[in-house]
Amino acid sequence: IIGLSLPTLGSFLYLMGLTPYGMDPVPIIMSLTSSLYIWAILSRGMLTAAPIARENLFESMREGVLVTDRSDMLVDYNRAAADMIEGLNSSSIGKPLAQLFLNAGKDALSYVMDAEPLLREEREVAWNKAEEVCYYQIRSSPVQKQEGHIAGQMIMLIDVTERILLQEKLRQLATMDSLTGIYNRSYFLELSRALLARSASLRSSLSMILLDVDFFKSINDRYGHQYGDQALQHIVQVCSRHLREGDLFGRYGGEEFVICLPETSLKQAALLCETIRADIEQSTLYTVIGPINVTASFGVVEALNPEATLEELLSEADHALYSSKRNGRNAVHLSQRSEIILFKPV
Ligand code: GH3
Ligand code: MG
Ligand code: MG
Repeated sequence: IIGLSLPTLGSFLYLMGLTPYGMDPVPIIMSLTSSLYIWAILSRGMLTAAPIARENLFESMREGVLVTDRSDMLVDYNRAAADMIEGLNSSSIGKPLAQLFLNAGKDALSYVMDAEPLLREEREVAWNKAEEVCYYQIRSSPVQKQEGHIAGQMIMLIDVTERILLQEKLRQLATMDSLTGIYNRSYFLELSRALLARSASLRSSLSMILLDVDFFKSINDRYGHQYGDQALQHIVQVCSRHLREGDLFGRYGGEEFVICLPETSLKQAALLCETIRADIEQSTLYTVIGPINVTASFGVVEALNPEATLEELLSEADHALYSSKRNGRNAVHLSQRSEIILFKPV
């Protein structure tokens, strides 16, 4: 404002004849205001802001970028991509993209091999590296020439390993029991509810087992909580060796466990129960403070009524378990048509 208004004022005064000796003051004023302009330009660093080259941008991106031509041959890549993809260097230019993705595993390879480049959507893929697996979000977009022709495609890799590992950890925390590594109660119930509904609709058999460790409080009292924990892990190990792939095994409460057996009749479940009971009785847990022996009591039930809810089944199994406890423990009781009977293997 000063730079503009002062010369204007000077020339106005000159035109009105108000300057001393009729002198034109504008050249003097302008040399002064020019210095103001120079000061303003220099103090704002207007001459030092260098233009940022597109190449610098490309190189400093944290996302790995690969550019291919129409026949999926590599045309260009940035530094981040070279860090992400093993073996990617200047000699890779002109080579097929699939060759670069070969070492990364089938997940990544199937992404590039998927036919139509325009239809490719964003995907998260597991990526094998020398000693670890990383997770990249891959996104590709067509590179179009000015006339609208497709010249190739640009593939962008974003490292999402940290997020995926965190999600996995959260999933583990939400579904698994941290002490024993089997399903926690809520996740077990969720999965077995689905199995129960499936078996009801297919009219196939399904049985449930409840298991409670005998005199566990005295194990804690005698050896300490730490060895109590070890005993729980030991029992889970013993049970697991008798379970099949599709069976569900969960921690129902402190020292109570629950097993859901699809495609299993009451008789088969009772036989399995008896095998597990005998195995727990015979498998001694060896610890640094000496051997620890444990036994467990069982209640078994079969879902015969397709209308029965999971809660009803578990309550029946609990009644059978209670009978095992009342009748001296280390036993298997079955709940059969609301009648509870001791299982005696023949
Ligand atoms: P019963 O034969 O009648 O089942 O007797 P019990 O002593 O096994 O049953 P009770 O319900 O009286 O005691 C269960 C004990 O299990 C009490 C609790 O302190 C212990 N417990 C529960 N969860 C854990 C755990 O995660 N670790 C350890 N060490 N102890 C646990
Ligand atoms: Mg208990
Ligand atoms: Mg107990």
